[in-house]
Amino acid sequence: MAAAPGDSLTTDADRMHATSDEAAALIDGVLAYARRRVLYEDVPLDKPLSPKDLARLAGDTITADGIGERRAISLFEHVLAPACLSTDHPAYLSFIPSAPSKASVAFDVIVSASSVYGGSWQEGSGAVFAENDVLHFLAREFGLPAEAGGVFVQGGTIGNLSALVAARDAARRRNRAAGREDPRRWVVVCSAEAHSSIASAADVMDIDIATAQPDAGGRLHGDAVARVLDEQGDAVFAVVATAGTTNFGIVDDIATIAEVTTARGVWLHVDGAYGLAAMLVPRMRQAFAGVEHADSVIVDPHKWLFAPFDACALIYRDPTGARRAHTQRAEYLDTLTEGADWNPSDLAVQLTRRARGLPLWFSLAAHGTERYRAAIDHGIELAKRIGDEIASREELSLVRDPQLSVVVFRREGWNAADYKAWSDRVLEEQLAFVVPSSHDGEPVLRFAIISPLTTFEKLVEILDTLR
Ligand SMILES: *Cc1c(COP(=O)(O)O)cnc(C)c1O
Repeated sequence: MAAAPGDSLTTDADRMHATSDEAAALIDGVLAYARRRVLYEDVPLDKPLSPKDLARLAGDTITADGIGERRAISLFEHVLAPACLSTDHPAYLSFIPSAPSKASVAFDVIVSASSVYGGSWQEGSGAVFAENDVLHFLAREFGLPAEAGGVFVQGGTIGNLSALVAARDAARRRNRAAGREDPRRWVVVCSAEAHSSIASAADVMDIDIATAQPDAGGRLHGDAVARVLDEQGDAVFAVVATAGTTNFGIVDDIATIAEVTTARGVWLHVDGAYGLAAMLVPRMRQAFAGVEHADSVIVDPHKWLFAPFDACALIYRDPTGARRAHTQRAEYLDTLTEGADWNPSDLAVQLTRRARGLPLWFSLAAHGTERYRAAIDHGIELAKRIGDEIASREELSLVRDPQLSVVVFRREGWNAADYKAWSDRVLEEQLAFVVPSSHDGEPVLRFAIISPLTTFEKLVEILDTLR
């Protein structure tokens, strides 16, 4: 690009960074699109395209001299974005959808604009302070003590891994202090219904999993955990309870599991990535009894706390122990790690970190906690209502009564191919995104309801296409 007359920029080196009319126009263009997207009345559901189609439509985008910001934004708006499913669409009902509040999305822009470093107190004290306010609010909701604290990490997978690494470190230190040998293989105990990220963490950590059998309703209880602990002995360093399975929203019997882990001095980790948000609804608190005994918990704001991707709140009962397990040591970091400051980097598998808790902080601060409780309750109520509707239809049946905001059901007489064809069709028609799931080898359908914009009428419209 040639320098415009009167433009103070003289070198290619500062052209991308210096303040100029050109920079202002670029920013206006980007923010204008962001504003349009966030304020869409009817978010398009959109659908994936093939690599071939995208290559044809997008052309060469990375060139020596650049294609210019206008063309790049236009390309994103008209070619690339429509090839991405809108996970915040009210009829996006697969996996776990996202439904970030307008406030949280808007503030995410500021997080980037401010170049905040969220890893250390020295560099990001204001941001870390605000993130900690949110973590302490959540810790109080979960009944954890005032000393509890943690960090926002990328997602539940990293949150679970980080918690288990801290748990194993605590067990190793205990053994060392007592002059005991470590077991040949460390073992973590969880339900057969636990999330796949626990198996992934076990792989990364090179440890074994011992599964405890849940009851017929998919719920894990303390007695089943106790039996596995009896078998596995001192090799077990942690038990994972799930506070809301991804498939069904089943909450383990955390209270009786906590009795067992407390009696035996084993770390209790509660994986509430999806479901623990429901504890913010007062009448649901009882379902999560026992969480207050956890040594660590996770909940994903990018799931049911209405924050944008990607954020997992990881909270430890004793952050000091977690810090011992996770702090990276290096000469260039000594100035950070040798002080008494609260450094979020030291609490998980990470170093450089975005202050990814800030979008949730801003939205919570702006709206207050009551709106959050109401918005979460919407999903629970709607799941119950559409569950009743499904049960009342002859051609449909519920696989299980919904516990949180997930509804699993079957269409009588359909096989896997029927489900697949239906799912493809309703996406093609842009009616809904509902992928077939399976339970005990049987193909089923599943609604995961997160968005407060998802309505009963919309879900009924989807059910009507199953006739
Ligand atoms: C989604 C989920 C995870 C994984 O979280 P990511 O943010 O996707 O990494 C872990 N556990 C449960 C119960 C989940 O629902």
